[in-house]
Amino acid sequence: MNDSHFDLIVIGSGPGGQKAALQGAKAGKNVAIIENGSDVGGGCVEYGTLPSKSFRESVYRFSLGSQGVLGKETRRAPSPHKIPEMARLLERKERVVLEESRVIRDQLKRNSVRIFLGHAKFTSPHDLLVTGKDGKNKKIKGDVIVIAVGSSPVTSETLGLDGQLVLDSNSILTLKQVPKRMIVLGAGIIGCEYASMFSMAGTEVVLVDKRKQMLASVDREVVDHLMERYRYQGMEIHLGVEAVGVKKIHGTSSGAKKSGTKVGSSSGKGSAKGASVEIELSNGDFLSADCVLVAQGRIGNTKDLGLESAGVVADDRGLIKTSSSFQTNVPHIYAVGDVVGPPALASTSMEQGRIATCHAFKIPSSLIAGNHPGTSDSVAEMSTLYPYGIYTIPEISMIGRTEEELLESGVDFVAGKARYRELARGQIVGDYWGLLKLLVDRKTAKILGVHIVGDNAADLIHIGQAVMAFEGTVHYFIQSVFNYPTLAEAYKTAAFHAVNLMRGTTKSK
Ligand SMILES: Cc1cc2nc3c(=O)[nH]c(=O)nc-3n(C[C@H](O)[C@H](O)[C@H](O)COP(=O)(O)OP(=O)(O)OC[C@H]3O[C@@H](n4cnc5c(N)ncnc54)[C@H](O)[C@@H]3O)c2cc1C
Repeated sequence: MNDSHFDLIVIGSGPGGQKAALQGAKAGKNVAIIENGSDVGGGCVEYGTLPSKSFRESVYRFSLGSQGVLGKETRRAPSPHKIPEMARLLERKERVVLEESRVIRDQLKRNSVRIFLGHAKFTSPHDLLVTGKDGKNKKIKGDVIVIAVGSSPVTSETLGLDGQLVLDSNSILTLKQVPKRMIVLGAGIIGCEYASMFSMAGTEVVLVDKRKQMLASVDREVVDHLMERYRYQGMEIHLGVEAVGVKKIHGTSSGAKKSGTKVGSSSGKGSAKGASVEIELSNGDFLSADCVLVAQGRIGNTKDLGLESAGVVADDRGLIKTSSSFQTNVPHIYAVGDVVGPPALASTSMEQGRIATCHAFKIPSSLIAGNHPGTSDSVAEMSTLYPYGIYTIPEISMIGRTEEELLESGVDFVAGKARYRELARGQIVGDYWGLLKLLVDRKTAKILGVHIVGDNAADLIHIGQAVMAFEGTVHYFIQSVFNYPTLAEAYKTAAFHAVNLMRGTTKSK
């Protein structure tokens, strides 16, 4: 096997890169993958999806065990709430990161993918210079190159990120203690997820976003549920304002007071002992806390990639524009994953990686997941069927169109709803708040969208996804038998509601 000339070179070993490389190897190509992290797995394994979801799992189990999490048994109960130790909450994450890196490394090796640990830089459209951890350079050539370099949090000069008092999503899990009070700047997916987790761990969380809406692309009713739940837990939410200044107080004071007050002396358990931080908002208010999480968007990791030598164009956010097959403006160079912009999820990145390699090597289109019975050759069409999982507590998941989008495009539809509290399983798990909503075309009875907020939403969504992919109707849910007691029964309850709405025999819930 040639060690310097490859059929396919993949830059970045996150979900997008892995699947691009494996698809190439499975098709018998000579494949190399380059990763500048300490091991394979990408940002997904090192500081993104897996660390955050492992931390969430620990927090979730902690809160279920100690105070109840799902509505009925809440922290409003008079029992004193004990803040868990950060080190304990992180044990699961350490194990998962190690194990997943090993699984990915083994999988790549088993498929004879050559792994280079080092930084890749284009020197020409087909040539890359890989600078290893030991500083040594190696030149390699690729017939096809897939850029899967991921993204990084936007750093704000104004907010003085320091990894101690002001942190981003890459550094938040280096906190030594669970903070008593934390400000989260940015109510997008990452901000909302960490706000949920720390709130469940016992932190007083203050969520701030300059936009007037949280999670703008999510169904409004679902977001309203989440906000209601956040407020019930005691979270403070400030929308339509932004942070314009930051003051770090080291040493003398310890801890932070509530919003609108200056930092004084209280017994905080913040990130850096005896230190706290004060944020000035655009409306003139001040917020203080033990630490701040900045989650205000991400930019593509294209800065030191030598794109100019390859002739590939990136925009001012470092994002690369591609065709629906993930081909860049240079035909043999593809880009997938976070570096091509939304939806920027691990799940979608994997699929994009596979699609790119299939396209590059003309692997029969039936192997491209975007083609499925009932539709034409349609990567773009499939993309509307990507599910979204948002791991707030409670979880949110959705697929297809929102009520707002359907109303805007004048589609005649009904929204069949099921509350978890109507289900035996909902009662058992104590999820008083959960909601599943089926959006159904009034004429064809086809499912146009599914929106869920509540326990297990991200798993439940796949039932709706399958029915939608096969262009099923609401009657599927009515005619099917579901295990009892399960949360999946919500589909059946919502379907009955939808059909009754279509017949005009019931009202909207
Ligand atoms: C806190 C957080 C939580 C998330 N939670 C979820 C979730 O629950 N579900 C979900 O689906 N998605 C989630 N995501 C998003 C998900 O992690 C990303 O969409 C996914 O990791 C993107 O995959 P990727 O292949 O584009 O790149 P990445 O996983 O970012 O990997 C890219 C790799 O390329 C390396 N690299 C960069 N430049 C070079 C170079 N020049 N040479 C060599 N290597 C290079 C990087 O170091 C990195 O290791 C989350 C993200 C964050 C930050």
